Amino acid sequence: MGNILIVTEIKDGTIREASYELAAFAQKLGGDVKSLVIGSGIAGEAESFAKKGGGTVYVADDASLANYNVEGYAAAIRAAVDASGADVVLVSNTPSGWDVAPRVAAGLDVALVSDVFDFQDGAYIRRVFNGKLNARVKVPGDKAVVTVQPGALPAFEGSTDGGTESLSVDTSGARSVFVETKLAESKGVDLSAAEVIISGGRGVGDPEKFKEVIQPLADVLGGAMGASRPVVDAGWLPHEYQVGSSGQVVAPKLYVAAGISGAIQHLVGMKGSNFIIAINKDADAPIFEVAQIGVVADLFEIIPALTAALQEAKG
Ligand SMILES: Cc1cc2nc3c(=O)[nH]c(=O)nc-3n(C[C@H](O)[C@H](O)[C@H](O)COP(=O)(O)OP(=O)(O)OC[C@H]3O[C@@H](n4cnc5c(N)ncnc54)[C@H](O)[C@@H]3O)c2cc1C
Repeated sequence: MGNILIVTEIKDGTIREASYELAAFAQKLGGDVKSLVIGSGIAGEAESFAKKGGGTVYVADDASLANYNVEGYAAAIRAAVDASGADVVLVSNTPSGWDVAPRVAAGLDVALVSDVFDFQDGAYIRRVFNGKLNARVKVPGDKAVVTVQPGALPAFEGSTDGGTESLSVDTSGARSVFVETKLAESKGVDLSAAEVIISGGRGVGDPEKFKEVIQPLADVLGGAMGASRPVVDAGWLPHEYQVGSSGQVVAPKLYVAAGISGAIQHLVGMKGSNFIIAINKDADAPIFEVAQIGVVADLFEIIPALTAALQEAKG
């Protein structure tokens, strides 16, 4: 596959799990792997990543790169591509990845292959038509910027023999400056990192029932709450809880879908979960097609009983 450059992502001073998944994806591609860490005061993280799948890690450490901005990050990636001779640039398919990857691909005049989840026989695999079909994408000449779905494959867990090299990036011509980060007032949830997700749909009925029925099960399992789109559209929960084609794509160890019919737009966001339990009154609901355990029942009977049993088992 030639030379591969992994673009890592930092959150709260730490390299995100999704970047370790890129390291696993890079191993799958089978080329010479190098990486890039962008930020301020991130040398320690870069050194650690070099030993955990990153290979040679370029460190773009500059106060002007402390916060994500598309111009600075694109300039850093371009500089790392020049330094590494990368053919393939791997970026996580996250909001900042969606933002920067097309700019880098256009600047390099190479193909952009977005939202891939696998690589087989020289082709990138991505879902199309809301997950109904998988497309196999081959790139002539192999040069590409590729965004990879978080959770598509397990994080790299081996060790590699890499070191760091400092990379200077000229951000002086940037037309945008970082002003501030304003966090949404609602309690933020990072569903992409949750190992257990208990999602409720329109069948839950109203916002109070999410607090009374869905949240306690999520709490006892140490998981997060998720939702289908009508729940979010109705304002019962903020958008960051939405799972699906216009929400988040998740792949937890356990996904419980309660009162969710299983429309294709929802399935595309959760069918990569390791184990799926569906609870629905309607035995013909399509959610059962992707579930390992299907419970045809009223969620208001099953979930409180399950929560109480788990609470009792935990003491
Ligand atoms: C462009 C586009 C993008 C979209 N993006 C998304 C997306 O990102 N995510 C998403 O989820 N949807 C998305 N949708 C909407 C999607 O098509 C469906 O309308 C939606 O997923 C349905 O949500 P639901 O299953 O909660 O509701 P419904 O389809 O109304 O299903 C409710 C289910 O609850 C069951 N039920 C009711 N009461 C109970 C009870 N007491 N116990 C057990 N079961 C009960 C019913 O049998 C039913 O199956 C999108 C649609 C479009 C057109």
